[in-house]
Amino acid sequence: MTGTTSTTRRFEGAVAVVTGAGSGLGRASAVRLASEGAHVVAVDVNTAAVEALVAELPTASIAVTADVSDETAVVGYMRAGIEAFGRIDVFHLNAGIFGSFAPIPDLEVDDFERVMAVNVRGQFLGLRAALRHYRDRSESAGEPVPGSIVFTASIASLRGSADLLPYQTSKHAVTGLVHGAAVYGGPLGIRVNGVAPGIVPTELFAAAATTKGGGNDMTARASTTPLRRAGTPENIAGVVAFLLSDDAAYTTGEIVSADGGASIVN
Ligand code: NAD
Repeated sequence: MTGTTSTTRRFEGAVAVVTGAGSGLGRASAVRLASEGAHVVAVDVNTAAVEALVAELPTASIAVTADVSDETAVVGYMRAGIEAFGRIDVFHLNAGIFGSFAPIPDLEVDDFERVMAVNVRGQFLGLRAALRHYRDRSESAGEPVPGSIVFTASIASLRGSADLLPYQTSKHAVTGLVHGAAVYGGPLGIRVNGVAPGIVPTELFAAAATTKGGGNDMTARASTTPLRRAGTPENIAGVVAFLLSDDAAYTTGEIVSADGGASIVN
């Protein structure tokens, strides 16, 4: 049982925004949601990557080039999705960057601000856009329109390390977005959760391996987790799909670990 495939169709005809869909976890999430019937609004700064993804998806889906940290671009990807499909039902707010590995005294302000812009400001802008969209739809419908939002958090949302301060600070902030939005959205029927991956080899780690001290030992670290391996993007996509679906109808405000058990080891 690898949990990488699905025969269920929980998102038949639904419309899903996935940010950072051009690579890694976002790509796997888009593939999973489309395989369950969703039309995907695939958002990324990398135009070629999202266009290639959409060409492979089995549902009518669109690629949108947008930097999630840019307020105008976020309005743009929402508008593109609504123009294409009339509405958006679920959101996987996933785009993120690692930033620099460095001891805290060696960090530059730019290192910190670059990561916070994408991982916090970008996630806030996506959240606000989603909640505004649900509010608009509810006003039109004359009753609350339910919704579901999943953020990609991280094991770094829950724990610290000595050389990854901007990233772990940004991912702790994602926990705050999940908690606040879940309390706001609950009475409106809007669930908000996060998935917290551990180590999943993706482009993110390839980039990290080239920065100071970073990334190189990730595979070795993954082999010490209780499940003794790194995760796959599909492993994470399965959790995202569950949290976005009605199978998780009574789950909100949770950061669900998908880390091979890494976060429970003392
Ligand atoms: P990845 O680099 O493979 O994919 C990230 C995608 O996001 C890329 O396609 C990139 O172009 C896009 N992107 C980056 N900045 C963007 C921006 N400003 N606007 C729009 N798109 C942007 O990385 P990944 O491993 O798939 O990471 C996805 C998410 O998962 C991130 O939030 C990351 O922090 C989180 N995460 C990853 C791991 C892991 O082990 N890979 C672990 C924990 C959390």
